[in-house]
Amino acid sequence: MNILSQDIKYLQGVGPNRATLLANELHITTVGDLLVYYPYKYVDRSRIYKIGNINGNMPYVQLCGQILSFETTGEGRGARLIAHFSDGTGFIDLVWFQGIKYIKKTYDCHKSYIVFGKPNVFNGRIQIAHPEMENAPEEIKQQACTTGNLFQENPTNTNIQESLDAQPSVFKGLCPSYNTSEKMKRSGLTSAGMAKLTANMFKILKTPLPETLPGYIVQKHHLMSHNDAIHNIHYPSSPESLRHAQLRLKFEELFYVQLNILRYVKDRQLRYKGMVFNTIGENFNRFFYHHLPFQLTEAQKRVIREIRADMRSQRQMNRLLQGDVGSGKTLVALMIALIAIDNGCQACIMAPTEILAEQHRETLCGFLADLPVRVELLTGTVKGKKRTAILEGLVTGDIDILVGTHAVIEDNVLFHKLGLVVIDEQHRFGVAQRAKLWMKNTVPPHVLVMTATPIPRTLAMTLYGDLDVSVIDELPPGRKPIRTIHMFDAHRPRIYELMNRELSIGRQIYIVYPLIKETEKLDLKDLEAGYEEIARAFPNYKVSKVHGKMKPKDKDAEMQRFANHETHILVSTTVIEVGVNVPNASVMIIENAERFGLSQLHQLRGRVGRGSDQSYCVLVTKFEIGETTRKRVQVMVDTTDGFEIAEQDLKLRGPGDLEGTQQSGMAFDLKIANLAKDGQILTLARDTAQSVIDSDPEERNTENDILWRRLRELRKTNINWGAIS
Ligand code: ADP
Ligand code: MG
Repeated sequence: MNILSQDIKYLQGVGPNRATLLANELHITTVGDLLVYYPYKYVDRSRIYKIGNINGNMPYVQLCGQILSFETTGEGRGARLIAHFSDGTGFIDLVWFQGIKYIKKTYDCHKSYIVFGKPNVFNGRIQIAHPEMENAPEEIKQQACTTGNLFQENPTNTNIQESLDAQPSVFKGLCPSYNTSEKMKRSGLTSAGMAKLTANMFKILKTPLPETLPGYIVQKHHLMSHNDAIHNIHYPSSPESLRHAQLRLKFEELFYVQLNILRYVKDRQLRYKGMVFNTIGENFNRFFYHHLPFQLTEAQKRVIREIRADMRSQRQMNRLLQGDVGSGKTLVALMIALIAIDNGCQACIMAPTEILAEQHRETLCGFLADLPVRVELLTGTVKGKKRTAILEGLVTGDIDILVGTHAVIEDNVLFHKLGLVVIDEQHRFGVAQRAKLWMKNTVPPHVLVMTATPIPRTLAMTLYGDLDVSVIDELPPGRKPIRTIHMFDAHRPRIYELMNRELSIGRQIYIVYPLIKETEKLDLKDLEAGYEEIARAFPNYKVSKVHGKMKPKDKDAEMQRFANHETHILVSTTVIEVGVNVPNASVMIIENAERFGLSQLHQLRGRVGRGSDQSYCVLVTKFEIGETTRKRVQVMVDTTDGFEIAEQDLKLRGPGDLEGTQQSGMAFDLKIANLAKDGQILTLARDTAQSVIDSDPEERNTENDILWRRLRELRKTNINWGAIS
């Protein structure tokens, strides 16, 4: 049996109890799983410090010297053992609170030890609690005695280095630190405990690990071999080799992610032909020449051209349309829907919430006016006769455009001939769900995913790596950039002043709170209190309140009241985040702005500035805020460019936190690569994967066999990967 698939239980140092822990806490069940449980950092143990030179602020240090005497203090639970330790340049206390007997028995006075740990200052003395101890190698001891200057800081002292190299001991070089849980630590599986296990693992790995990439790729990019990389990632032989190992493993990881995506794209293209929309017909032309109330922006024109090219190409379109809030994506959706209709097909436009679906329908009907295009709305609340009528209209083909929520992907929603699906504002809509749409027609419809959350390129390449990308990078003319202002709680009178001014000229105002009462701590200015305060401060205006715990029906009704200008101020949680369009609203106030991610702030801010008047976004924070918060707020004040903000967000937060990464279906656990930092490696990996697919489309090149085999293995072990195949 392959040693990598061996049960972890049988590895020396594991046993049944720890095996259960490893499985529960880290999903490690085999030796192979442990092999890819990489350290999260390394501690430099290549250098020996002089006690005279250390202080309590240093990170881990390594010392070499002798125990002069032991001292026991306290009793029972308060007992502690202190070893007075010296190397001739100074003194330090080594302290143990547990295992005192064992320590006393194991270590002797006047013998030389290598000591490793984190120095702290306690009662004015430097000490190391529970240090790691090793017998010092003979050579070091001798030098210590004879030369007296052994413990110099210069790590290039070759004599010491050689003697250290000669010893296959843990105090050599960079040592791995492994993440472990509290539970694991209680069973001895600390970082050091895990290091013992990985060391034991390498002892039983007698034969080199097989290569996981074809030789020509390894050579072309000067990569370290898989075997060396795995060894060096756990036990680096030098900082240099560690870098090579990291590069190799990151590349490998990203390469397989990309190969998986691109191969899926190729399969999809082979399996499904696309409908061909050759005609630009009556509806499109009438709309374009007689109904379009304004000129399309250049960006809108370009995007429509790109989409048209897809729809004529005989391939099924799978395209992501990115465009900042207010860039006019809805109109693009409508115009391409008209192309589908002119080619004898129906179109379906999906929105994430009822209110957005409803708004879309209204917008579309407004644009279409007297054109003979029938638009209907289907959501979860459309029931009974109305629903039956719509389902019928879809089957007969009487309905041209269906606007709706997730309700439209239900199995009983059937179309006469569905040619286009537009998914709006939706990263919660993964690959698997999209695939479901194709079943609605014998030939799969073209799919356009629209998002106003600009996604940094690296993230798009993985999360939406199977989609072609179009970008609307231009706002319609005449928009005044939103003015963003940072204010502290104490500035409230000035905020009220601004609100009063805008309300008095007939504008409306959003106030957003991060969370509602029941779920958060007291120090948060919460929605309920805020609502009451606002109602008191603005007695002449009507105030709406909306939050996530309301029934969808009530929420929608309240939103609708605001949209109809029946209320003037909307106090809410983030439920209004996506897509809502109330052009008359000119002020967005975000309370506890520090609690929001940058992309989220950008989305919220995008709710105003939709008309031609000056709009304002006020970010309210408390006075004491940290450095990162200050930076984040400043980014918002400085720029309204969504892409810039998304890049900054990725940098400040890391990709795991970004909205949508979990649900995308193309997501997976990256063990070592970091999408925020490894953009270059990612690009290289994607290009390499693409060239494999292009140069060997039939998969006949035997050099590539290794790739397809590995891909199958990875799909088996990774649930998320499996979802798309
Ligand atoms: P989003 O991309 O955020 O979905 P919308 O489609 O809601 O943006 O468009 C925002 C507003 O801009 C709408 O009121 C829409 O009618 C208007 N709009 C769209 N395209 C243009 C254009 N080319 N010129 C002027 N206004 C436009
Ligand atoms: Mg929109």
